[in-house]
Amino acid sequence: MNPLDQLIELSPYPVIFAPGEELVFDVFGFAGFMVNSNTVAGYLSPGPPRTKKMYIKMNVNISKSAQISTLAHEIGHALCSVNNCKCQEDDHKILAEHHANMFCLKYLLKTKQAEPIKAYINLIERQASFKAFDSRFVRAKEAAKKIMKLKLWEKCKKFVEEK
Ligand SMILES: [Zn+2]
Ligand SMILES: [Zn+2]
Repeated sequence: MNPLDQLIELSPYPVIFAPGEELVFDVFGFAGFMVNSNTVAGYLSPGPPRTKKMYIKMNVNISKSAQISTLAHEIGHALCSVNNCKCQEDDHKILAEHHANMFCLKYLLKTKQAEPIKAYINLIERQASFKAFDSRFVRAKEAAKKIMKLKLWEKCKKFVEEK
């Protein structure tokens, strides 16, 4: 099975693929996984009551590696949501990002996917140096700084260096 299908199977919610413009439009008003200000790589839909059925929406116009790492990140959020993780409370939004980042890197390392790990390391490093104005970017930045302190981060860097 290809890595994207494997992830789709792991997702507790349906995964929808759509053109990037559609995601930029959707995300206006709620958090999505931003690559930069005009690209949203993917997002987990807001929970009830705004939408009855939750889903993950993915941008088809980004690279395969970026799709894999983004989907792994969003599934991390989805699993926290179905498990009622404490990060789901409103005042734990940085923790929610941290959990999604951790799930993503653990999964990619376990399944030995060097290219997606490389893409993700790049993204996290960029997020850590964000000049953040908007609360979404502040959250991403704080979560990025947090994951970069973990052993998991070192392991991922070592893994891609050896590739
Ligand atoms: Zn969580
Ligand atoms: Zn996230």
